[in-house]
Amino acid sequence: MTAERRGHRPAIGAVLTRPDVAALVEEHGHAAVVEAVRTVVAELGTRGDLMGPDAGSVVAGRAIALLRRQPRRLHRVINGTGIVIHTNLGRAPLGAEIASRAVEVAAGYSNLELDGLSGRRGDRQDLLSDLLCRLGGAEAAMVVNNGAAALLLALTALCRGQEVVVSRGELIEIGGGFRIPDILRLSGARLVEVGTTNRTRVSDYVAAWGPRTGAFLRVHQSNFKISGFVARPPLKELAGAAHEHGVSLLEDVGSGLVPPGLPAVAAEDRLSASLAAGVDLLCCSGDKLVGGSQAGIVLGRAAMVTRMRRHPLARALRPDKLQLAVLEETVLRYAIPGRLREIPVWRMLQLSPRELEARARTWVGALAHSGVAAQVVAMEGAVGGGTTPGRTLPSFGILLEDSHPARLRRYLLGVEPPVLGLEREDGVAIDARCVLPGEDDLLLSAIRAACGAVP
Ligand SMILES: *Cc1c(COP(=O)(O)O)cnc(C)c1O
Repeated sequence: MTAERRGHRPAIGAVLTRPDVAALVEEHGHAAVVEAVRTVVAELGTRGDLMGPDAGSVVAGRAIALLRRQPRRLHRVINGTGIVIHTNLGRAPLGAEIASRAVEVAAGYSNLELDGLSGRRGDRQDLLSDLLCRLGGAEAAMVVNNGAAALLLALTALCRGQEVVVSRGELIEIGGGFRIPDILRLSGARLVEVGTTNRTRVSDYVAAWGPRTGAFLRVHQSNFKISGFVARPPLKELAGAAHEHGVSLLEDVGSGLVPPGLPAVAAEDRLSASLAAGVDLLCCSGDKLVGGSQAGIVLGRAAMVTRMRRHPLARALRPDKLQLAVLEETVLRYAIPGRLREIPVWRMLQLSPRELEARARTWVGALAHSGVAAQVVAMEGAVGGGTTPGRTLPSFGILLEDSHPARLRRYLLGVEPPVLGLEREDGVAIDARCVLPGEDDLLLSAIRAACGAVP
């Protein structure tokens, strides 16, 4: 770089004092504006062609554009994948009714830990326990930060220093490094593996039983399916064997279906089915099939839940007021059939292929108006969240044909709001099931922008 050119390179300080740039500080904060100006200046430094006496205004213009373009770090994404409980997309969407009620509570002070009668300190775990017990017909309930925390707390509080018997077919990894053997080790319980990958019988558990056994643990095989020569004891038989030998049966249900039943999910995945079969304590996620906030829901015998509530780890894993408010609003709707559709996960799982096809048709029509070619296609979605491996949800969506599908998929992610579609050989498909009510126009304008069409 020549000395003359260096001389034209705009000083960051000078750019920051320009009124148009200074005005940005109010909206974005000083640090973000400095960062944007630095980024633009650094870019110019590598591209000498943009240097000159006007560099200051060029930099300002670009920094302004950069900041305006920048969405919030956490922002809306349109889910065109047809996967209802999509872990990368925040799992269960909360829906407007539930979210606004929860925000109302969280926006102000609340009775999170206030005993309403005495005005003294209360226990946040008392707030929802009766409601949650009703989900599965349990004696007692508690809520922690997420499903993984629920299992860790259960094993730590109930089985530390004892042996826990688990089938080799259930020593799973859920994702994000959550592995059952690791969680057991972390809890201070000792894992005793029984059976084989594909077949485990009740007699295997019983043979492993001894004076140090604390519990039998059953884990939902969330995200994989083995078929063929397989055997897994019915829950009821396993519970019978556990109780005969004086130990408890714990279950990590994973997703946890609440009544009423859904065709896409096996009835034995219902929380009530587990407790009725004799499970002493179960844990599940709040933001999978329950359709609520991130949370770990624990249902089970009162004495066991009490031990968990009193364990010091409970404090480290407790839920916050927003999680509890969302969970309350969600769970309340299970008791009112007419309001179940306000739980987005439920509404989406109930949508029929015919409804989805009709919606896809209106999209194709609207896109054709602005010169974007799309066609209605039959698709296969999924419940997701490790709920029903191997099962699909028959669905409909639209196909945006393109000879560079990977590029179109990237373009769709680059517009506002980003759209996550499914890349196929012949283009990108967008499943209609998980595009939320009210998102139709946003989706269409995002597609138009990505396809470079006139809005
Ligand atoms: C999802 C899942 C978990 C973890 O629950 P989080 O709420 O994600 O922490 C644990 N066990 C099983 C079987 C699961 O499917």
